Amino acid sequence: MKPNPHIQFAVLELTYHCNLFCPGCYVSASNKFKSPELRNIIPILSTLNSLDVENVLLCGGEPTTHPQFREIVEECKKYNFSICLSTNGVFNTNMAEFIGRSFRELDISLRSINEKDFSTMAGKNGAYHLMLSNMILLSQLGLKININYDLNMLNFQDVYDSMVLLKNNNVRINKVWLQRHSATGRGKDAVPLKLGHLSLDNYINVLNQANRIEKDLKIKCRFLDPIPLCLVPKQFHKMILSDSFGFDWIIINPDGRVRIFAMDTNEDICSILDTQFKSIWETDPSLLEYRSLEWIQDPNCIRCKFLSRCKSGFITSSPNAKYDYLLAENQHYPFIAS
Ligand code: SF4
Repeated sequence: MKPNPHIQFAVLELTYHCNLFCPGCYVSASNKFKSPELRNIIPILSTLNSLDVENVLLCGGEPTTHPQFREIVEECKKYNFSICLSTNGVFNTNMAEFIGRSFRELDISLRSINEKDFSTMAGKNGAYHLMLSNMILLSQLGLKININYDLNMLNFQDVYDSMVLLKNNNVRINKVWLQRHSATGRGKDAVPLKLGHLSLDNYINVLNQANRIEKDLKIKCRFLDPIPLCLVPKQFHKMILSDSFGFDWIIINPDGRVRIFAMDTNEDICSILDTQFKSIWETDPSLLEYRSLEWIQDPNCIRCKFLSRCKSGFITSSPNAKYDYLLAENQHYPFIAS
């Protein structure tokens, strides 16, 4: 694959603080990172701007809990990139109105449309109604809402019905992003529900629902984690996006450090504030090797025409297969290429 070091999309983690306690959150339980002050964020934004980054996604933790969230958003508006927000949707009306004035589009994580399951997956009672009423309010304020639906054993059969329910509540859904709900980070040792790993059949069930969401509800639906393309019917290939972290996406932690793998909060390669950043990003040996895909060993994958898209089904958002792989163990490796 031709390396493409130009960064199109930057994910900026403003804080690891959160008002929920989701068992599948990748964020570390350690308090290693303090929420940076605005004066520390300004140089990061300025650097991203100088690198011609096109899109910046503000995320967390829960970014709206950052004490200077509003000032940060106002600062972002001074630059050339477009900004988007990734949030759990659990905030007060005042914040919802600020978001309504400041963004045109945002991503909201949906754990479940079932109130009881939502409380289990969010680790907090009462959050469900706040999230839903905010989705409705933000829709009335004209925002386009992308739903981030984290799949697990409790909710994977409810994707289609969830979108119908949201639509019936006049939530203005723009896109649906599907991704696995992985028990990593702060919740990996305290998972209060049987997350398990979905089987290939479960994922095909989800893809069928995604197809119905596109056909019946006219909402674009994409699967953000790579599924080996040779394992799913061709009609679903266009719905499966492969990870781009380390290629033209970067993720930046609250200290300004950049990592290859989105969900491994312990490993980073350099600081975005380093004067050598651009050169490191373009020439770092670990990144070059990673982008080359020469580490892929499976002979079927090596000669496969889908390799650059599929990357052997490797979950590039996390290198840690011990806690975090897509398919049930007996279906993980080796893949059977057709
Ligand atoms: S790259 Fe490998 S896993 Fe992906 S479709 Fe090709 S053979 Fe299957």
